Amino acid sequence: MTRTIETVRTVRDLRARVGAWRDAGETVALVPTMGAIHAGHLSLVALASTLADRVVTSLFVNPLQFGPREDFNAYPRDEARDAAALAQAGSDLLYAPDASEMYPPGFSTKVNVGDLTENLCGAARPNHFDGVATVVAKLLLQSAPDKAIFGEKDYQQLLVIKRLVRDLNIPVEIIGGAIVREADGLALSSRNAYLSPAERKIAPMLYETIHAVATDLEQGRGADDAAETARFKLEAAGFRVDYVAVRDPETLAPLHGPVKQARVLAAVHLGKTRLIDNVPVSAPTP
Ligand code: AMP
Repeated sequence: MTRTIETVRTVRDLRARVGAWRDAGETVALVPTMGAIHAGHLSLVALASTLADRVVTSLFVNPLQFGPREDFNAYPRDEARDAAALAQAGSDLLYAPDASEMYPPGFSTKVNVGDLTENLCGAARPNHFDGVATVVAKLLLQSAPDKAIFGEKDYQQLLVIKRLVRDLNIPVEIIGGAIVREADGLALSSRNAYLSPAERKIAPMLYETIHAVATDLEQGRGADDAAETARFKLEAAGFRVDYVAVRDPETLAPLHGPVKQARVLAAVHLGKTRLIDNVPVSAPTP
């Protein structure tokens, strides 16, 4: 049977829908997306439906989180296709506001999460995390969910949102969902659609390389040394490397020498496409 999904476009309609569920004693989970729905997003919807009675998925390509030379205009948009996929995956409601609903004339508030946003993607994409924090704060206040689900694919973003919610006492539990990958290891991303066939062939090397860093670290190799080798391998394969970094999994503080718990994070450019990925490191305690 083909399932359909109700779509609301205003905060007022969203609150009416969520309010009715709450009045009926139901719990609500939110899955924020920018659309171009793929199996990674759908895994978050599936996780959300195990954690709450109702799942709201938001679809909003947030202009605030794109830089002036980034792909806001080119970003893939197909709401009808996304709505069908989300309905099939069991989402109960699609919240797809227009930019004027999200940022009405005179909008002038910005949310800035310090510290965690200064390095890695924050260094390469100035203002990006302000845009993310601002829209996520709004989405959480608009929908008032019990839980909100974000992918570990955007690991720094997940930590930024956990900090935002803690610092502003927003009453929601933030939950991370595991990264969904293609069979060859490439993490699913809406931006993979930009890759040429030749680029698509070498793209899985990103995961392969950071996975090798994690294995090396688990075998006691020093963090700087392992990251340097990875950068060299990626550059030799034709990637332009923004960063390959070994960081504390909670604070993103840089780690040096042998590590126990860590996260390996990388961002690269392949032609005109920026790709990010990350893996956990868990070295056995001797
Ligand atoms: P986006 O539409 O790219 O903003 O992503 C919406 C949500 O889906 C974010 O929380 C992402 O971290 C998450 N996500 C994107 N790609 C994946 C993936 N391959 N596996 C799991 N979650 C993902």
